[in-house]
Amino acid sequence: MTPLKTADELRAAIAGAAPPRTCSCALGACAGWESLAEYRWEAGQMTQVATLRDPAVDEPTLEEFHPGGTRYESPQAPVAPAFFPYNRCDVWHCQRCDRHLLRYTEFGGYNVDPRVRALVPENIAD
Ligand SMILES: [Zn+2]
Repeated sequence: MTPLKTADELRAAIAGAAPPRTCSCALGACAGWESLAEYRWEAGQMTQVATLRDPAVDEPTLEEFHPGGTRYESPQAPVAPAFFPYNRCDVWHCQRCDRHLLRYTEFGGYNVDPRVRALVPENIAD
C-alpha cells in the first residue's frame, strides 16, 4: 500500500464514497481521538483503504499541526498527513455506517493504546 503524503491524496482516497449514515457501530462518534480501550473495533466490518505511514521513515515527526489553536483531542483539529499523529495512521472504512476512520497506536511507557478518530473531509488540511 503506497503511503499517502498530502491532504489532496487523502481527499482523493476517500472521495466518491457513499455519504456516512448515522452511526450504529460500537465506536461512537469519535469526532476527536478516542482510545479503543473504551470502544470496540469491529474488525469484521472494517476495511483498510489507505495508509499515511511511510515505512521508509524511521521516526515520523511528533510535531502537531494546529494553526487554528486546536489541540490534539479537538474534534476540529486538522487532519494533516505530514504531522503527528496522522503520519502514523491507517485509514479504514466501516461497512456498517460508511464512515472513514483513522487509526494508530499510541506508545507510552509500557502502555500500547490504539486510538481512533472519524475522518471528516472538511478537517483534512496541510
Ligand atoms: Zn461504523
